[in-house]
Amino acid sequence: MKYTVWKKVFFAFNWLCIMNMLPMKFEYIRLDGYTPEPNIRGKTKTILMDTYAWDVSELPTWNFDWSSTQQASGWSSDCVLKPVRVYKDAARTNAWIVMCEVWNADWTPHVSNSRSTIESDDGDFWFGFEQEYVMEKNGKPIWFPEKGNPDPQGKYYCGVWYSRMSHIPRRIADKHFDLCWEAWIYIDGINAEVLKGQREYGVLSKWAKKAGDDVWVSRYILMRLMEEYELDLNLNPKPVRPGDRNGTGMHCNFSNKYMREIWGEWYFTHVCKRFGDYIPEHMAVYGSENEYRLTGKHETQSIDEYSFGVSDRGASIRIPLTTVQDWRKWRLEDRRVAANADPYKVVARVVKTVQEVKYEN
Ligand code: MG
Repeated sequence: MKYTVWKKVFFAFNWLCIMNMLPMKFEYIRLDGYTPEPNIRGKTKTILMDTYAWDVSELPTWNFDWSSTQQASGWSSDCVLKPVRVYKDAARTNAWIVMCEVWNADWTPHVSNSRSTIESDDGDFWFGFEQEYVMEKNGKPIWFPEKGNPDPQGKYYCGVWYSRMSHIPRRIADKHFDLCWEAWIYIDGINAEVLKGQREYGVLSKWAKKAGDDVWVSRYILMRLMEEYELDLNLNPKPVRPGDRNGTGMHCNFSNKYMREIWGEWYFTHVCKRFGDYIPEHMAVYGSENEYRLTGKHETQSIDEYSFGVSDRGASIRIPLTTVQDWRKWRLEDRRVAANADPYKVVARVVKTVQEVKYEN
């Protein structure tokens, strides 16, 4: 046969193979190298899959322009995107979101890879992050006047009233709720918060690394959704300064199996005391500019103090009343974490401190 005929046969064969495959969009996302808080970056890769029943380990590694994201200083530096977890991307058709870690070419974790600092990931830990956020336009919370502040806060928390709340934040919060659920991120609740334009959603996750992944992917889904409304996501711990306005936090609820299943007031108390031994270590990973939020006002403890107490929303760590009722209702709440904290660093530190407390009385 002539070469041109062989060529046609070859292309026909290839086309038939492609027709039996499923082209799918995979949005590879990861953290960049900016400090103190990284940004999320993402780009889409089309991959032909022969089935929906695949595992994240089957997805290929990928590359990036690393010098544009503060992760490579020289022309010869190169890194690798390594897929670690996949989520359904319900905002696009045939699409998935792929959380990735950044590795060096020699297969050591890149310095920006905070996920790799989580030493223990054995399923013992559950985390419930209360992610607060502010919707922002042109550098100000939405519907703030050009100059000065709106009316004193107080009527916005869990509010419903068009002239006060508008319809856009609720539309975004509800849509975000649905998109996260479809991605199998367990949002356990949402509400309007104290500051105008401020909202909150809760993310409940088992396993430390999954907790970090879920928070980062939920933030990514939220930012992409807000783009459609020409709004930005502001996670600064004190978005309005000065003034009598609430800050924006990400309270970290946590437990291990012992706290959930074994009796013991002493154990909860020892965990709280041990957190007091590592105040600088915890504050170092609880978000930048947090000193503007932790003032001792607006349901916070001062950044210079450490305390824990039952139902105390002014304490560093709150012991929920349900925990006290039989001392095994699963959780403690570290209220110091700021909204802009890297959840990977937070869970890594919390796990480390809690694991130092021995189970024996
Ligand atoms: Mg809140």
